[in-house]
Amino acid sequence: MALDRKTPNDLAAFWMPFTANRQFKAAPRLFVGAKDMHYTTHDGRQVLDGTAGLWCCNAGHCRPKITEAIQKQAAELDYAPAFQMGHPAAFELANRVIDIAPDGMEHVFFTNSGSESVETALKIALAYHRARGEGSRTRLIGRERGYHGVNFGGISVGGIVTNRKNFGTLLAGVDHLPHTHLPDENRWTRGQPEHGANLADDLERLVALHGADTIAAVIVEPIAGSTGVIMPPKGYLEKLRAITRKHGILLIFDEVITGFGRTGAAFASQFYGVTPDMMTTAKGLTNGVIPMGAVLTTAEVHDAFMDGPEHMIELFHGYTYSGNPIASAAGIATLDTYKEEGLFERCAEIAPYWADALHSLKGTRHVIDIRNEGLIGAIELEPIAEAPTKRAFSAFLAAYEKGVLIRTTGDIIAMSPPLIIEKDQIDQLIGTVREVLESLD
Ligand code: PMP
Repeated sequence: MALDRKTPNDLAAFWMPFTANRQFKAAPRLFVGAKDMHYTTHDGRQVLDGTAGLWCCNAGHCRPKITEAIQKQAAELDYAPAFQMGHPAAFELANRVIDIAPDGMEHVFFTNSGSESVETALKIALAYHRARGEGSRTRLIGRERGYHGVNFGGISVGGIVTNRKNFGTLLAGVDHLPHTHLPDENRWTRGQPEHGANLADDLERLVALHGADTIAAVIVEPIAGSTGVIMPPKGYLEKLRAITRKHGILLIFDEVITGFGRTGAAFASQFYGVTPDMMTTAKGLTNGVIPMGAVLTTAEVHDAFMDGPEHMIELFHGYTYSGNPIASAAGIATLDTYKEEGLFERCAEIAPYWADALHSLKGTRHVIDIRNEGLIGAIELEPIAEAPTKRAFSAFLAAYEKGVLIRTTGDIIAMSPPLIIEKDQIDQLIGTVREVLESLD
């Protein structure tokens, strides 16, 4: 596709998300095709996908089985009302998700995105306590440096200042646990860091401050992705689980990026051996192909409504596209692909090679820390004092020119390739990052 870079006004109408539109439109980067591990750019180049799109195309791109399932469903049943009506594919997908979920997760509420999954889980938490006669539990607890999407609940419990500051007072009654990024203690860690489990004890402080009977839920990402890939310190998630259980507080894991094989297990909850009361998911559920998310809950959470007072018999929440037939078909074909190709196991198998390649960047110019888990990697760069984030963003642009897609958040390069990545592609990805960093000021 020819693109005249001299006429950026051709691109004017689309107000792009999380993008400096003026800069982008002056020098646009467009993808026009994709296959397996590669994107094709508008100027005809192949770009190796080091990020699985946005942590979502876990099976790689344009997989025929998923494409065909979508085409078939679109021709057969395009849409069914989501309320008071159903269709078989949504029920089948719910069962299939539960088949691979941690023991104890038994029900699925469908949404259209990670952000909607988060809003849904927070609302379920509040209504759950009400259904059980504990309506005083209205407080929500998130974590500094947490990312839970962009809707009001998500930015309230989230801990990214730039995502919050333009949008008023947000939800009332929200507290944040401290983040667990301890660079001095945990630098160059492979997998889970040694230090920081005690940071979960801050939850006891909040319980003492407000009273457990006012707190509905705690939400954290098992691995915080968007704020620089922060792995949970050893023992941290276990502590959170123990404290929430002790005080009757629901624990929600936001598994939007860690779900569907990214750590080498289906979900990070299984990888770390800690089961929450609810899990939020999206992205890899449909391989990123059709927007869809899902909240997973225990029977206890779900049954509070089924067995609760008559006025709570339904949640009074849902979306026109909850469990949409085409999204459900995409989800089923995606889970088939993961299973048939053993992609979660493949991720676990290749993870040590990935970790070695990534940590070989220690000593490369500007690199001050490296972290990894499963097929996740982060390379933290020394920030330029007067222009934080600039160095990492320059690395992203230079890597793109050299045919490799990486992502940056602050001064951290974050990578999360599709789970089908081969060893020589890992070498290309890491080799290109090395070259780029050595050449940057
Ligand atoms: N939660 C987490 C942990 C995420 O990483 C993301 C997206 N990166 C979201 C929620 C929001 O998902 P979406 O962009 O689909 O709304």
